[in-house]
Amino acid sequence: MLKVENLTASIGDVSILNGIDLEVGPGELHAIMGPNGSGKSTLCHAVMGNKDYTQGGTISVGDKDISSLPQNERSDSGVFQSFQYPVGLNGVTLMEFSRNINNELSDEEIIELAKKFNMEEFLDREVNVDLSGGEKKRSELFQLSLKNPKVALLDEIDSGLDIDAIKSVANLINETRESSTSYILVTHYSRILKYLDVDKVHVVVGGKVVKSGGNELIEEVDSGGYTQYREENWIKRTHGLKRIPWENSKSQNQHYMEHLQLEQ
Ligand code: ADP
Ligand code: MG
Repeated sequence: MLKVENLTASIGDVSILNGIDLEVGPGELHAIMGPNGSGKSTLCHAVMGNKDYTQGGTISVGDKDISSLPQNERSDSGVFQSFQYPVGLNGVTLMEFSRNINNELSDEEIIELAKKFNMEEFLDREVNVDLSGGEKKRSELFQLSLKNPKVALLDEIDSGLDIDAIKSVANLINETRESSTSYILVTHYSRILKYLDVDKVHVVVGGKVVKSGGNELIEEVDSGGYTQYREENWIKRTHGLKRIPWENSKSQNQHYMEHLQLEQ
Protein backbone atom coordinates (compact mmCIF):
# COMPACT_ATOMS: atom_id res chain seq x y z
CA MET A 1 0.00 0.00 0.00
CA LEU A 2 1.28 3.43 -0.96
CA LYS A 3 0.02 6.50 0.83
CA VAL A 4 1.06 9.99 -0.24
CA GLU A 5 -0.14 12.94 1.80
CA ASN A 6 0.24 16.58 0.86
CA LEU A 7 3.34 15.83 -1.20
CA THR A 8 5.18 18.92 -2.40
CA ALA A 9 8.33 19.11 -4.51
CA SER A 10 10.32 22.10 -5.62
CA ILE A 11 13.59 23.01 -7.23
CA GLY A 12 15.07 26.22 -5.89
CA ASP A 13 12.09 28.50 -5.50
CA VAL A 14 10.11 26.83 -8.30
CA SER A 15 7.37 24.72 -6.88
CA ILE A 16 6.45 21.73 -9.08
CA LEU A 17 4.16 19.59 -6.91
CA ASN A 18 1.65 21.53 -4.85
CA GLY A 19 0.21 19.05 -2.39
CA ILE A 20 -0.61 15.65 -3.84
CA ASP A 21 -2.70 13.09 -1.96
CA LEU A 22 -2.90 9.51 -3.17
CA GLU A 23 -3.69 6.15 -1.69
CA VAL A 24 -2.99 3.05 -3.76
CA GLY A 25 -3.99 -0.23 -2.13
CA PRO A 26 -2.10 -3.50 -2.65
CA GLY A 27 -2.82 -4.95 -6.09
CA GLU A 28 -4.40 -1.71 -7.30
CA LEU A 29 -3.29 0.12 -10.40
CA HIS A 30 -3.84 3.87 -10.48
CA ALA A 31 -3.33 5.84 -13.67
CA ILE A 32 -1.88 9.33 -13.45
CA MET A 33 -2.83 11.36 -16.49
CA GLY A 34 -1.90 14.93 -17.28
CA PRO A 35 -0.43 17.22 -19.92
CA ASN A 36 3.28 17.65 -20.51
CA GLY A 37 5.00 19.50 -17.70
CA SER A 38 2.23 18.94 -15.17
CA GLY A 39 4.49 17.17 -12.69
CA LYS A 40 3.83 13.48 -13.41
CA SER A 41 7.49 12.46 -13.62
CA THR A 42 8.31 14.68 -10.65
CA LEU A 43 5.69 12.78 -8.65
CA CYS A 44 7.54 9.53 -9.41
CA HIS A 45 10.94 11.11 -8.67
CA ALA A 46 9.65 12.53 -5.37
CA VAL A 47 8.19 9.21 -4.21
CA MET A 48 11.47 7.53 -5.16
CA GLY A 49 13.39 10.19 -3.21
CA ASN A 50 15.36 11.89 -5.98
CA LYS A 51 17.44 14.40 -4.11
CA ASP A 52 17.29 17.06 -6.84
CA TYR A 53 13.92 17.98 -5.38
CA THR A 54 13.14 19.55 -2.03
CA GLN A 55 10.13 17.68 -0.82
CA GLY A 56 7.47 18.04 1.85
CA GLY A 57 4.54 15.93 2.98
CA THR A 58 4.42 12.27 3.91
CA ILE A 59 5.00 9.12 1.88
CA SER A 60 4.34 5.74 3.45
CA VAL A 61 4.73 2.21 2.18
CA GLY A 62 2.56 -0.02 4.36
CA ASP A 63 3.12 1.20 7.90
CA LYS A 64 6.55 2.62 7.14
CA ASP A 65 7.11 6.34 6.69
CA ILE A 66 9.77 6.63 3.99
CA SER A 67 9.55 10.43 3.55
CA SER A 68 12.94 11.20 5.02
CA LEU A 69 14.79 8.14 3.71
CA PRO A 70 17.40 8.45 0.96
CA GLN A 71 16.69 6.88 -2.43
CA ASN A 72 18.51 3.58 -1.81
CA GLU A 73 16.63 2.98 1.45
CA ARG A 74 13.33 3.73 -0.27
CA SER A 75 14.32 1.10 -2.80
CA ASP A 76 15.10 -1.32 0.04
CA SER A 77 11.68 -0.47 1.50
CA GLY A 78 10.10 -1.79 -1.71
CA VAL A 79 9.80 1.15 -4.11
CA PHE A 80 10.67 0.58 -7.76
CA GLN A 81 10.73 3.26 -10.44
CA SER A 82 10.74 2.59 -14.14
CA PHE A 83 11.96 5.61 -16.04
CA GLN A 84 10.38 7.56 -18.86
CA TYR A 85 13.83 7.65 -20.47
CA PRO A 86 15.74 4.55 -19.29
CA VAL A 87 19.47 5.23 -19.29
CA GLY A 88 22.08 2.83 -20.65
CA LEU A 89 24.57 1.32 -18.22
CA ASN A 90 27.80 0.84 -20.12
CA GLY A 91 29.92 -2.04 -18.88
CA VAL A 92 27.14 -3.68 -16.85
CA THR A 93 25.33 -6.64 -18.35
CA LEU A 94 21.65 -7.19 -17.68
CA MET A 95 22.57 -10.48 -15.94
CA GLU A 96 24.92 -8.70 -13.51
CA PHE A 97 22.35 -6.00 -12.96
CA SER A 98 19.62 -8.59 -12.37
CA ARG A 99 21.68 -10.32 -9.67
CA ASN A 100 22.01 -6.94 -7.96
CA ILE A 101 18.30 -6.17 -8.13
CA ASN A 102 17.46 -9.39 -6.31
CA ASN A 103 20.36 -11.36 -4.86
CA GLU A 104 18.03 -14.08 -3.62
CA LEU A 105 17.38 -15.34 -7.13
CA SER A 106 19.58 -18.00 -8.71
CA ASP A 107 20.84 -17.47 -12.27
CA GLU A 108 18.41 -20.17 -13.40
CA GLU A 109 15.50 -18.29 -11.86
CA ILE A 110 16.65 -15.05 -13.50
CA ILE A 111 16.82 -16.80 -16.89
CA GLU A 112 13.33 -18.29 -16.37
CA LEU A 113 11.92 -14.85 -15.63
CA ALA A 114 13.81 -13.29 -18.55
CA LYS A 115 12.10 -15.78 -20.89
CA LYS A 116 8.71 -14.52 -19.79
CA PHE A 117 9.69 -11.02 -20.94
CA ASN A 118 11.47 -12.23 -24.06
CA MET A 119 14.65 -10.77 -22.57
CA GLU A 120 16.78 -13.91 -22.46
CA GLU A 121 18.99 -12.87 -25.39
CA PHE A 122 19.64 -9.51 -23.69
CA LEU A 123 21.07 -10.92 -20.45
CA ASP A 124 24.64 -10.90 -21.79
CA ARG A 125 24.27 -7.40 -23.22
CA GLU A 126 24.78 -4.09 -21.44
CA VAL A 127 21.70 -2.73 -19.68
CA ASN A 128 19.62 -0.59 -22.07
CA VAL A 129 22.55 0.00 -24.43
CA ASP A 130 21.51 0.03 -28.11
CA LEU A 131 18.03 -1.26 -27.31
CA SER A 132 14.94 -0.13 -29.19
CA GLY A 133 12.28 1.83 -27.30
CA GLY A 134 10.10 -1.26 -26.90
CA GLU A 135 13.00 -3.43 -25.76
CA LYS A 136 13.97 -0.87 -23.11
CA LYS A 137 10.44 -0.81 -21.73
CA ARG A 138 10.34 -4.61 -21.69
CA SER A 139 13.63 -4.59 -19.84
CA GLU A 140 12.19 -2.18 -17.25
CA LEU A 141 9.23 -4.50 -16.69
CA PHE A 142 11.58 -7.48 -16.39
CA GLN A 143 13.54 -5.59 -13.71
CA LEU A 144 10.28 -4.75 -11.96
CA SER A 145 9.38 -8.42 -11.88
CA LEU A 146 12.83 -9.36 -10.54
CA LYS A 147 12.41 -6.97 -7.66
CA ASN A 148 8.75 -7.76 -6.92
CA PRO A 149 8.34 -4.39 -5.16
CA LYS A 150 5.60 -3.13 -2.88
CA VAL A 151 5.26 0.00 -4.99
CA ALA A 152 5.85 0.20 -8.75
CA LEU A 153 6.13 3.62 -10.40
CA LEU A 154 5.77 3.19 -14.16
CA ASP A 155 6.53 6.50 -15.85
CA GLU A 156 5.28 6.59 -19.44
CA ILE A 157 5.95 2.93 -20.03
CA ASP A 158 4.02 3.51 -23.29
CA SER A 159 5.95 6.50 -24.63
CA GLY A 160 7.60 6.14 -28.00
CA LEU A 161 6.00 2.75 -28.65
CA ASP A 162 3.99 1.73 -31.69
CA ILE A 163 0.53 0.29 -31.16
CA ASP A 164 1.66 -3.36 -31.17
CA ALA A 165 4.40 -2.65 -28.66
CA ILE A 166 1.91 -0.81 -26.42
CA LYS A 167 -0.35 -3.86 -26.49
CA SER A 168 2.52 -6.19 -25.68
CA VAL A 169 3.74 -3.98 -22.80
CA ALA A 170 0.16 -3.86 -21.44
CA ASN A 171 -0.09 -7.65 -21.71
CA LEU A 172 3.16 -8.05 -19.78
CA ILE A 173 1.83 -5.79 -17.03
CA ASN A 174 -1.40 -7.80 -16.88
CA GLU A 175 0.40 -11.15 -16.82
CA THR A 176 2.85 -10.17 -14.10
CA ARG A 177 0.61 -7.99 -11.97
CA GLU A 178 1.02 -8.91 -8.30
CA SER A 179 -1.67 -8.64 -5.64
CA SER A 180 0.92 -7.36 -3.17
CA THR A 181 2.14 -4.48 -5.35
CA SER A 182 0.63 -0.98 -5.62
CA TYR A 183 1.03 0.34 -9.16
CA ILE A 184 1.20 3.94 -10.33
CA LEU A 185 1.15 4.18 -14.10
CA VAL A 186 1.84 7.58 -15.60
CA THR A 187 0.70 8.37 -19.10
CA HIS A 188 -0.61 11.30 -21.08
CA TYR A 189 -2.36 9.11 -23.64
CA SER A 190 -5.33 6.94 -22.83
CA ARG A 191 -4.29 4.24 -25.31
CA ILE A 192 -2.45 1.87 -22.97
CA LEU A 193 -5.16 2.19 -20.31
CA LYS A 194 -7.66 0.51 -22.59
CA TYR A 195 -5.71 -2.73 -22.32
CA LEU A 196 -5.29 -2.56 -18.53
CA ASP A 197 -7.51 -3.12 -15.55
CA VAL A 198 -7.37 0.35 -13.99
CA ASP A 199 -8.72 0.86 -10.47
CA LYS A 200 -8.56 4.64 -10.36
CA VAL A 201 -7.58 7.56 -12.57
CA HIS A 202 -6.12 10.83 -11.32
CA VAL A 203 -5.71 13.88 -13.51
CA VAL A 204 -2.69 15.98 -12.52
CA VAL A 205 -2.47 19.58 -13.72
CA GLY A 206 -0.15 22.22 -12.34
CA GLY A 207 1.32 19.84 -9.76
CA LYS A 208 -2.05 19.01 -8.21
CA VAL A 209 -4.60 16.23 -8.58
CA VAL A 210 -7.50 18.18 -10.08
CA LYS A 211 -9.82 15.23 -10.54
CA SER A 212 -9.96 11.57 -9.48
CA GLY A 213 -12.39 8.93 -10.61
CA GLY A 214 -12.86 5.63 -12.35
CA ASN A 215 -12.53 4.53 -15.96
CA GLU A 216 -15.00 7.19 -17.09
CA LEU A 217 -12.25 9.79 -16.64
CA ILE A 218 -10.21 8.15 -19.42
CA GLU A 219 -13.07 8.83 -21.81
CA GLU A 220 -13.46 12.37 -20.48
CA VAL A 221 -9.77 13.11 -21.06
CA ASP A 222 -9.97 11.59 -24.53
CA SER A 223 -12.90 13.68 -25.61
CA GLY A 224 -12.17 16.96 -23.83
CA GLY A 225 -8.37 17.04 -23.55
CA TYR A 226 -6.62 18.61 -20.59
CA THR A 227 -7.71 22.22 -21.09
CA GLN A 228 -10.99 21.45 -19.33
CA TYR A 229 -9.06 20.75 -16.14
CA ARG A 230 -6.58 23.57 -16.59
CA GLU A 231 -9.32 26.16 -16.31
CA GLU A 232 -10.80 24.45 -13.29
CA ASN A 233 -7.46 24.23 -11.59
CA TRP A 234 -6.64 27.85 -12.28
CA ILE A 235 -9.89 29.00 -10.74
CA LYS A 236 -9.42 26.77 -7.71
CA ARG A 237 -5.88 27.88 -7.15
CA THR A 238 -6.27 31.59 -7.73
CA HIS A 239 -9.56 32.10 -5.97
CA GLY A 240 -9.90 29.14 -3.65
CA LEU A 241 -13.35 28.49 -5.08
CA LYS A 242 -14.99 25.12 -5.33
CA ARG A 243 -15.54 23.82 -8.83
CA ILE A 244 -18.22 25.87 -10.54
CA PRO A 245 -20.85 23.65 -12.15
CA TRP A 246 -20.93 24.84 -15.73
CA GLU A 247 -24.18 24.89 -17.64
CA ASN A 248 -24.29 24.41 -21.35
CA SER A 249 -26.28 27.58 -21.86
CA LYS A 250 -23.60 29.81 -20.40
CA SER A 251 -19.98 30.14 -21.23
CA GLN A 252 -17.47 29.26 -18.56
CA ASN A 253 -16.37 32.88 -18.40
CA GLN A 254 -19.90 34.13 -17.85
CA HIS A 255 -20.31 31.73 -14.97
CA TYR A 256 -16.99 32.68 -13.58
CA MET A 257 -17.77 36.39 -13.72
CA GLU A 258 -21.12 35.84 -12.04
CA HIS A 259 -19.49 33.83 -9.33
CA LEU A 260 -16.93 36.55 -8.71
CA GLN A 261 -19.66 39.18 -8.53
CA LEU A 262 -21.49 37.10 -5.96
CA GLU A 263 -18.32 36.97 -3.91
CA GLN A 264 -17.88 40.73 -3.91
P1 ADP B 1 5.57 15.70 -16.78
O1 ADP B 1 6.24 14.42 -16.45
O2 ADP B 1 4.15 15.78 -16.31
O3 ADP B 1 5.66 16.04 -18.24
P2 ADP B 1 7.65 16.88 -15.16
O4 ADP B 1 7.38 16.32 -13.81
O5 ADP B 1 8.77 16.27 -15.92
O6 ADP B 1 6.31 16.89 -16.01
O7 ADP B 1 7.95 18.42 -15.02
C1 ADP B 1 7.07 19.33 -14.37
C2 ADP B 1 7.68 20.73 -14.41
O8 ADP B 1 8.78 20.78 -13.55
C3 ADP B 1 8.16 21.14 -15.78
O9 ADP B 1 7.89 22.51 -15.94
C4 ADP B 1 9.64 20.87 -15.71
O10 ADP B 1 10.35 21.75 -16.55
C5 ADP B 1 9.94 21.15 -14.24
N1 ADP B 1 11.06 20.31 -13.77
C6 ADP B 1 11.01 18.99 -13.52
N2 ADP B 1 12.21 18.53 -13.11
C7 ADP B 1 13.03 19.59 -13.14
C8 ADP B 1 14.42 19.78 -12.83
N3 ADP B 1 15.19 18.75 -12.43
N4 ADP B 1 14.92 21.03 -12.97
C9 ADP B 1 14.13 22.05 -13.35
N5 ADP B 1 12.85 21.94 -13.65
C10 ADP B 1 12.29 20.74 -13.54
MG1 MG C 1 7.17 12.98 -17.61
